[in-house]
Amino acid sequence: FAEQDISILDYKETQLLSDAYNRMLKRMKTLDDSRQEFVSNVSHELKTPITSMKVLADSLLMQEDVPVELYKEFMSDIAEEIDRENKIINDLLSMVKMDRKSADVNIQETGINEILERLLKRLRPIAAKRDIELVLESFKPVRAEVDETKLALALSNLIENAIKYNKEEGWVHVSLNSDHKYFYVKVEDSGIGIPQEAQEHIFERFYRVDKSHSREIGGTGLGLAITRGAILLHRGAIRVYSKEGEGTTFTVRIPLVHVE
Ligand code: ADP
Repeated sequence: FAEQDISILDYKETQLLSDAYNRMLKRMKTLDDSRQEFVSNVSHELKTPITSMKVLADSLLMQEDVPVELYKEFMSDIAEEIDRENKIINDLLSMVKMDRKSADVNIQETGINEILERLLKRLRPIAAKRDIELVLESFKPVRAEVDETKLALALSNLIENAIKYNKEEGWVHVSLNSDHKYFYVKVEDSGIGIPQEAQEHIFERFYRVDKSHSREIGGTGLGLAITRGAILLHRGAIRVYSKEGEGTTFTVRIPLVHVE
């Protein structure tokens, strides 16, 4: 009996080990696939502006006696593509930095109201260009242990999107609240909304609902991935509620006290 028991136990243990091993292999394969997909997306995104620049430069070089107006038009298109390339590279760098293990996470007790006030002050002129009203409603002073730079970038992306994907003369309401454990930031807009089926994908890297529209208004598809990374770094959560044609609300919840 004793021998039989041991062999049954061995079998069970081997089975458990082999299951765990298979799960690990599967997980590694998924990670590898997503890394490959990421590298291929990055290459594609970085190549697009370069291809445009090459076409523009070649067509200028091919012509003799280019009129100065045409020359200027092409050069300004090239400058726009350079700006775009710069934005993609900057967004990629920000995204890489949103890693819990990265050395430059700097958690300090910070006034959240002040972060939002500074952001709104910077973004108000951009909103005003399209007659969009940008309002901050803070219910009480909130202090929390956060990485100020990373949190500001995360919230800035949300507010910038609320302005970018809005209608002329629309509005953006940002509110701050807290309870004994968390603080909550809500960014609500009167914009174009996000289709139901797209909502689960918007936090993915490079995902854009309408590629051409987003490109036109200067999107890289990395903004919300950066935001999500920063919020996870703070062990927080982000949710989206949206109705096409009516508007979108993002809610962020972050613990007041940082836990490693
Ligand atoms: P992008 O750089 O294209 O703005 P994001 O990662 O910030 O990339 O957002 C991903 C996509 O989600 C956007 O391209 C846009 O289609 C959609 N989106 C994000 N925020 C909003 C919003 N407030 N209203 C409508 N659509 C939005």
